[in-house]
Amino acid sequence: LRKPFVAGNWKMNGNLALVAEFNQKLANVKADSEIVICAPSLLLHAFETHSFAIGAQNVSHLNNGAHTGELSVEMLKEAGCGYAIVGHSERREDQGESSELVALKAKQCVSSGVVPIICVGEPLEVREADDVESFVGEQLDALVSAMSVDELSKTVIAYEPIWAIGTGKTASPEQAQEVHEFIRGYFNKVDAQLAQGLRILYGGSVKPDNAETLFAQKDVDGGLIGGASLKAEDFISICQAAN
Ligand code: 13P
Repeated sequence: LRKPFVAGNWKMNGNLALVAEFNQKLANVKADSEIVICAPSLLLHAFETHSFAIGAQNVSHLNNGAHTGELSVEMLKEAGCGYAIVGHSERREDQGESSELVALKAKQCVSSGVVPIICVGEPLEVREADDVESFVGEQLDALVSAMSVDELSKTVIAYEPIWAIGTGKTASPEQAQEVHEFIRGYFNKVDAQLAQGLRILYGGSVKPDNAETLFAQKDVDGGLIGGASLKAEDFISICQAAN
């Protein structure tokens, strides 16, 4: 049985006051899901994590050395991170991250015991051309080429259709389920046990009022939440929708 998983991605938002608010409001939250907040790295030290864990939004694929501006997985771990988002579409676009680089970052996380939340998902033109499976399939190919089955089993996948991110245009539960089923089927060809255990999250305009039907889909194991993860009440109700 896969434990439901809800992660908030604060992106480049938030401050110490918001962390303090979350520390207070999430302190006694009751949810059966695994809850993670991926905040800007400079804020991570201020979280008091009891009912939830913390994660980073990016990580270097390298150990250390002359790489100005980068953070290593060991540094993030020392700051308390159990998780790191890798390959978010905003980084694939803004920083030109390739699927190969994303796979190396995911592998680097696993080697230090940090769980990578690996994002995949298509832009609108790919969906309109009915090419979603080949597009997402290629993003997954890079992971399978770089990582062993054992390594892959220590990851979480997030399907985030780019057209649904920050747009208010949530994928319908059927659209989400269709791609999640494709992703699980893809991993099933690699290893059946891996596919059964792998958590696949949906991301893209998840809100308190649509979370429950999305999470009720057979292959949707939770969500990666952007905008709604910045409001404690909304985030809590989304976490509880995943029970
Ligand atoms: P929104 O929930 O704001 O659409 O963002 C989704 C996302 O990109 C999470 O990583």
